[in-house]
Amino acid sequence: MTIGFIGLGIMGKPMARNLLKAGYSLVVYDVVAAPVAELVEAGAKAGTSPKDVAAQSEIVITMLPNSPHVKAAVLGENGVIEGAGPGTIVVDMSSIAPLASREIAEALAAKGIEMLDAPVSGGEPKAIDGTLSVMVGGKQAVFDKVKDLLLKMAASAVLCGDIGAGNVTKLANQVIVALNIAAMSEAFVLATKAGVDPEKVFDAIKGGLAGSTVLNAKAPMVLTGNYKPGFRIELHIKDLQNALDTAHATGVPVPLTSQVMEFLQALKVDGKAGDDHGGLIQFYEKLAGI
Ligand code: NAD
Repeated sequence: MTIGFIGLGIMGKPMARNLLKAGYSLVVYDVVAAPVAELVEAGAKAGTSPKDVAAQSEIVITMLPNSPHVKAAVLGENGVIEGAGPGTIVVDMSSIAPLASREIAEALAAKGIEMLDAPVSGGEPKAIDGTLSVMVGGKQAVFDKVKDLLLKMAASAVLCGDIGAGNVTKLANQVIVALNIAAMSEAFVLATKAGVDPEKVFDAIKGGLAGSTVLNAKAPMVLTGNYKPGFRIELHIKDLQNALDTAHATGVPVPLTSQVMEFLQALKVDGKAGDDHGGLIQFYEKLAGI
């Protein structure tokens, strides 16, 4: 089976590599040439456009930054929709607005093309290990056809509902992660100013109730001042904006999300949009005069 893979960034490149390792034939495309060359070196074929990739593939995976990028690659000029035949399955693994997933799926359905929204959690380390968590929206029958493929990149793949449900689940995930990083940052800066080394705090509390996957992943980075992404602040701003839009459209107040969004916006203004989201602690350090 030939799989198309569009978007070979921090996440897409290792995910595509895992599909090659699992024995799939891959046709890949990115607007940047370097990662395409790396994947070709590893055994993939280079496509010349999303249309070209789709024309050669039964399943097309997209792993792009946000809704406009996915719309451009799938529905735009020389997009997937122009090359895919009826029965092709598009699996968008990017984190985008749930409404955009539904719009793209509707346009594809008019041509007999199926779509799942299947964003992931786990970050670059789990993308490399092939142990991501995938949250999926779409039809059960389509999910059943791609589940084995997803499990070559992930430790779990859960169908959460109809199209868009994967991205609603991802928004919930991103709210929890952002608020956890903010809580960790607030606590570490408090400890520092109160005279206790935050490294000791981490050591002492990680096995207790405050311990978490977020704490284990981000504290070691934050404690060494390493803000190399990972997951860039600008991408988390994108996810929280999608969360706020969805919350406002559904009439749900999300006061904590709004507040953390402002912290991230302040860091962006400070030129830190490209830092890992663990760099959120820099907002607190500045407030506290550290
Ligand atoms: P990235 O910016 O590193 O990669 C995106 C890639 O898409 C780049 O290589 C870019 O050149 C390419 N691209 C952009 N527009 C394109 C187009 N029209 N056609 C073809 N290629 C195009 O981003 P990433 O960190 O890999 O994230 C991808 C998605 O996964 C995002 O939605 C992000 O929110 C989500 N995500 C990221 C992480 C993480 O830790 N980095 C974790 C979970 C989910």
